[in-house]
Amino acid sequence: MSEQEDNQDLQYLKWQDKISKTFCHFPFTTSYIGSGGEADPCCISEHHRINDIGWFTNGYWESSGLEKLRQNLLNGKKDPGCRRCWIDESKGMMSKRILDQAKVPSANLENLTVEQFKEQVIKKPKIRWIDFQLANLCNLACRMCNPWNSSIIEEEALEHIDKFSNDKLKGKELFHKNIIKPLPRVKEVKDYWKDPEFRRQIEELLPQLDAITVSGGEPTVNKYFSEILDFCKREGIDKNMILKFTTNGMQINRKYMEKLDGFKKVEVKISMDGTGSVYEYIRWKGVWETLHENRKILEEYRSDRFKVNSDPTYQVLNILNIPNLIEYHLENDMDLANLNPVHEPEYHAISCLPKEIRELAWNKLDKCRERNKDSLHYNLKMGVNNVLKYLEADRPNEEKKYLPMFFEHTKILDQIRGQSFEKQVPELYNVLKKYDH
Ligand code: SF4
Repeated sequence: MSEQEDNQDLQYLKWQDKISKTFCHFPFTTSYIGSGGEADPCCISEHHRINDIGWFTNGYWESSGLEKLRQNLLNGKKDPGCRRCWIDESKGMMSKRILDQAKVPSANLENLTVEQFKEQVIKKPKIRWIDFQLANLCNLACRMCNPWNSSIIEEEALEHIDKFSNDKLKGKELFHKNIIKPLPRVKEVKDYWKDPEFRRQIEELLPQLDAITVSGGEPTVNKYFSEILDFCKREGIDKNMILKFTTNGMQINRKYMEKLDGFKKVEVKISMDGTGSVYEYIRWKGVWETLHENRKILEEYRSDRFKVNSDPTYQVLNILNIPNLIEYHLENDMDLANLNPVHEPEYHAISCLPKEIRELAWNKLDKCRERNKDSLHYNLKMGVNNVLKYLEADRPNEEKKYLPMFFEHTKILDQIRGQSFEKQVPELYNVLKKYDH
């Protein structure tokens, strides 16, 4: 990120406070569509579960629940559906609400004054950005994911229900909630994008959008994503649109890249939660060498119009590897956009780590920050500070409750997948194994 963009971030932060202490642009500009077709203002909000907010095709944008949320955020009230932001902020961290404040996805809005922003955006909410989670079709099965994010995990869970349901497991209830319980619903709604009415509404909306962002599953193996790209090209609306998508990078090739050449701007986020064997352990079926090579193909296209970066998560399994990951990016002149905490499942969140391991991770990351202080851009510095803050907090109850579940989940998957925590993540394994009672 350039210094100019850094300054833009700061500018937007000032805006936010002028509008209200809880302001967030998402309910005024964006519709997130989850992997079952449910609508929310952003990917971490929980409104479809608790408010009167409809399915995307069922009047979401005009729903009374969404209007109530808008009013709450404008009036400085912490709406309960935005729980994840309030939690991060209460821990002194930068929430998505704050970090994404600069990501109003339209170049046209960047130069507005606060008053113009109020007139043009707040008074006239309009979907300018669709953030799609395109169902669960995926070629990988990551440790922190669930049947909603990966068709391989869905199949795995169906085949091994008994292993996650053993009465002796401390994590039985959570495994049931995260892995087994969603299965019938996933089966029922995962093909939401095939509904003709949904497709009609999306085609109608596409010409008015400034941006479309897509995650999955894996977008590059999803037929509908290809169809959207082809539709935008055919209708000539790609030239007005910013396209961002997240990919695990396994299927990237030069032929696929031709679909992207007409978009006004493109940002490709590569999912990379570790280096080498840590990467392959977390992102099962992913191959580090393939990722390394395909990343180079993407980098060939890098320009002012075409951005390539990664947006890794941090979690128990990669917390000691994060410095390597940061330095891999720096050595390869690759942009690491931000670091995002895994909150759920709770047994993969770093809050369940013992103090000794958190201190080890803190020291490693702090040294990495020092070594590279002149190379880290503003957002990444904030991201690293967030990780350090998160590591400082003592949460003995979370360790007691969730660390045993981490070991259980890890062993079950090792058995099913033929992987090895000991061999593939040895640095963490060696310091953590004594806590496995
Ligand atoms: S969860 Fe956070 S980022 Fe999402 S809509 Fe609510 S305040 Fe905004």
